[in-house]
Amino acid sequence: MPYRFSFKKYRLPLRVPLRTAHGWWAEREGLILRLEDDQGTVGFGEIAPIPWFGTETMVEAEEILRQFGNMVPDELLDKTPERYGCVRFALAQARSVSSATASTSRLPVAALLPAGREVLRVLPEKLEVGFLAFKWKVGVGDAEDELGILDDLLAQIPAHTKLRLDANGAWNRRDAARWLTRCADRPIEFVEQPVAPAEEDTLLGLANDYPVKLALDESVVHLSDARRWQGLGWPGIFVIKPALAGPLHEVIDWILKTKADVVFSSAIESTLARSAILSAVLDQPLSRRALGFGVGEIFGDRRWDGPFIGPLIDNGCLAQTPGEELWNALN
Ligand code: MG
Repeated sequence: MPYRFSFKKYRLPLRVPLRTAHGWWAEREGLILRLEDDQGTVGFGEIAPIPWFGTETMVEAEEILRQFGNMVPDELLDKTPERYGCVRFALAQARSVSSATASTSRLPVAALLPAGREVLRVLPEKLEVGFLAFKWKVGVGDAEDELGILDDLLAQIPAHTKLRLDANGAWNRRDAARWLTRCADRPIEFVEQPVAPAEEDTLLGLANDYPVKLALDESVVHLSDARRWQGLGWPGIFVIKPALAGPLHEVIDWILKTKADVVFSSAIESTLARSAILSAVLDQPLSRRALGFGVGEIFGDRRWDGPFIGPLIDNGCLAQTPGEELWNALN
């Protein structure tokens, strides 16, 4: 079936710039695409790449969209290469018949805690608003200092809450071994990406040598990466950012088929992509772990941020027709 096809670019300053392994991230660029079938049914999809995380670039995404022209057949959309995970996510989103979920489930959200000693100031605020799961960025400062702060943090954190650590691949094998030894007898839900994605043998070795659960994040940008790690016998968790991974229905099929232990996580996308993701995870049990969508207000613009995300997600967190509204807001 041929679709009428068009797309628009967006560029939004982040309300608070994010510190990443590649410096400060101050502005989110992305694309919204629109597909209209011959029945007049319109669908929207969001492309929100993070090139330094291993996705296609904006230039590459735009290039492939231009090749689609004004009218594009299904078959050509289906030929979008695997490595264009963000484009493939958006095309699948625009083509899916998205009905609002009737789900009454509520899923917990993990609050993101700042690196360093600042964490001790922010934790009580997050507890106060009701968060029960937390993620703390580590591997940023001196390891000895951070291990000391970890002890202070664990002393403050109530027993019924969960704490996960994210090293963003910053450790070498020795640092990682030291941390994982310290975590062994502590209540840590899991440690995310202890060493860089290239260190595959080290990742597998650490996962088998220590009792603490490990999670892959930077290592599994695309669904195909997660499948490959599964084939290698990865015994831990997969952090999946659906907006980067490829078609959402393929991610869901994979989880249902393989019972992969998954944490869903934000790619700093707008409410358009996020509502599609949250709708899917509310619809059926896919993960028992708190969602990595505790990123707060990203843009400081209600249209793009969508409904407020607090300690629990339910279908009130889904924007109703974000595609139409955002499309019309763009030139
Ligand atoms: Mg991570």
